[in-house]
Amino acid sequence: MLEASLDQLEQIRDRPWQPVPEDLPARYRIGQGGDLVGRIEQDVLPHHGGNVHPRFWGWVQGSGLASDLIAGMAGAVVNANVGGRDHGAVYMERAVIDWTRRRMGMPEGASGVLTTGTSQATVIAFQAARVRALPEVRQTGQGAVRLTAYAGVGVHNATRKALELIGVGAENLRQVPLVDGQMDPAALADMIAADREAGAVPFLLVGTAGSVDLGLFDDLESLADLAVDHGLWLHVDGAFGAWTRIAAEPWRGLSNGIGRADSIALDFHKWMYVGYDCGLVLIADEAAHRAAFAARPAYLEGGERGLAGGDPWFCDYGIDLSRGNRGLKVWCALEMHGEEALAAAITDNCRLAALMADEVEKQPRMALGAAVVSNVCVFTARKDLPAAEQTRLNTAIAQDLQESGEAVFSTTRMGDRVLLRAALTNHRTRDEDITAAIAAVARRAELSDL
Ligand SMILES: *Cc1c(COP(=O)(O)O)cnc(C)c1O
Repeated sequence: MLEASLDQLEQIRDRPWQPVPEDLPARYRIGQGGDLVGRIEQDVLPHHGGNVHPRFWGWVQGSGLASDLIAGMAGAVVNANVGGRDHGAVYMERAVIDWTRRRMGMPEGASGVLTTGTSQATVIAFQAARVRALPEVRQTGQGAVRLTAYAGVGVHNATRKALELIGVGAENLRQVPLVDGQMDPAALADMIAADREAGAVPFLLVGTAGSVDLGLFDDLESLADLAVDHGLWLHVDGAFGAWTRIAAEPWRGLSNGIGRADSIALDFHKWMYVGYDCGLVLIADEAAHRAAFAARPAYLEGGERGLAGGDPWFCDYGIDLSRGNRGLKVWCALEMHGEEALAAAITDNCRLAALMADEVEKQPRMALGAAVVSNVCVFTARKDLPAAEQTRLNTAIAQDLQESGEAVFSTTRMGDRVLLRAALTNHRTRDEDITAAIAAVARRAELSDL
């Protein structure tokens, strides 16, 4: 199995995503026995989701690291439950959180917990914000109080979902218009005033560091000032974009001010390339974090010494009691590849997104949907066609190139058009992958004339 896994990594360039064969579900039916490793080689390894391949730029997905293989082996035999108690994985997770806290520029004493991803991290952060706004809410529920939250147009759906889950309701999320790709502070102030006037309780401001559609960044410094002025909890969705903190300039500057947030949600499984799943919530006020989640019945009481020591326990900072050992794969990535190499890959992804934009602009009939700000490039294969035709063509090109194994773009809607979209969170991508993929799009676009 180890040899097959190493082959898969070494030969990944020749193993793009492929459509799932019709009989695969039958081959997975439980109880067939046989040669397990052989079956995995034949039925599991070829049917990956494509994100390990160098020409995969769909949605925002991480590419996975060789260090994951090592972490997976060691993690499997340790089988740590990192909900609490006194053992190595607890200390390793703390080391990972502390390293990240420093890189984000959050104050010492801030707390954090590794999560499944940014979606779960967002729920945890919002619940901490809600408990700060309504200290009795864990006991009494929200009753008739109407909390309101504010985020820029284009905020990720994880914010809406989290507000639904914690009982604030999607209707109480105000979408603030953008000016030059950033939340408009004047519009924000008007919305807050109108809500207060109407008897609502504004509690939360959500800044975006790396918007999912276009890779845009709010002006986090000014949001931090506004949050103080209006008495709001500032949360930053930095799922991938938070990692510009370790990139070179000018991209690093995009996330200036992120360390002033009350909470940050980010992923290791996107732009730190670590295997799924692994996200993190950081909360500046440890007491507020703990107040929102600590709950230990008698059978979980901590001890002065022995295995029940190790306080504080991670179960008091999040949703889960039993928790996997996510810290190990982040630690292996940082110790094996090193921060410098990871930072260089992030910087290079931004450079490659700019290269893709250049390649698009060299094609007379292609056009960018928006200027490239960080690592996301959105474009149409044929700017000369009517909107509905562009939609049809861009959608078909994305599907064709996925099925042929040439490249994976996803699509997004901008105004009345569906466009091709690439998010560069892939450390395996090289310059020639970008030029070859844009050439493949151009070929498909020409064929559409026939
Ligand atoms: C991916 C993403 C999320 C959700 O994160 P998950 O790790 O998939 O739960 C939230 N916000 C942004 C900007 C994202 O790109």
